[in-house]
Amino acid sequence: VLTIEGVWKNFDGHHVLRGIDLEVHSHEVVCLIGASGSGKSTLLRCVNLLETVDDGAVYLEGQEITDPRADVDDVRKRIGTVFQAYNLFPHMSVLDNITLAPRQVHGIGRREAEEQARGLLGRFGLADKAEAYPDRLSGGQQQRVAIIRALATQPRLMLLDEVTSALDPALVREVLGVIRELKDTGMTMILTTHEMGFCRDIADTVCFLDDGVLVEKGTPEKIFTDPGHPRTRDFLSTVL
Ligand code: ATP
Ligand code: MG
Repeated sequence: VLTIEGVWKNFDGHHVLRGIDLEVHSHEVVCLIGASGSGKSTLLRCVNLLETVDDGAVYLEGQEITDPRADVDDVRKRIGTVFQAYNLFPHMSVLDNITLAPRQVHGIGRREAEEQARGLLGRFGLADKAEAYPDRLSGGQQQRVAIIRALATQPRLMLLDEVTSALDPALVREVLGVIRELKDTGMTMILTTHEMGFCRDIADTVCFLDDGVLVEKGTPEKIFTDPGHPRTRDFLSTVL
């Protein structure tokens, strides 16, 4: 689905990504781990074109999306993104939050968009919240709505950046449940997390980033029990 090829990114002369190569296959769940500042969020932002790359290329379904001629709106239609802060529109009901993009970007009629939104809300245990405003929802519920909103455009790829780190531990589990359900439906995902237990649980492939370098990549079993690189071992010893 996605190929990242030799991606470099610098901010003010500081190399934040140094030649990242990564292939993500259909239905694969890739988890990026690494210390704060290692470049995880920047890499996701390069994929959904919130940042331009200095060198290298990103291909989505065979199309080079880092090509300056690529249609950014079209690319974002195919990529669902959820960030740490849930960013729901506070002045809109849950239903309006979810149906906004399908209606405005994809031109789907209100009735159809709402039907689909209610279906998703039901699937994720939020059927009774369709008319609620975000400030009446718990943090975990808001984050679930944010994930549903990203799903409503039927993306080919989901990017999830620290989607649980703003939440109380008690609420984390319900959001993790949603991500697990997404995995079970075969959604292709790249996610970042500081929760190694979750990463180990859900990832097909774990990538360890260290100072902008993708140092090591492998199955969770391999990375967590037998890391091949001393930097990976150092990192894991500080977080496990
Ligand atoms: P965390 O685990 O804390 O979320 P991260 O691995 O996601 O960290 P990034 O957010 O990708 O790290 O940041 C990587 C580096 O790039 C950091 O040194 C950060 O300060 C820098 N950086 C990120 N965005 C910008 C920006 N817009 N302008 C300048 N520097 C930036
Ligand atoms: Mg980050």
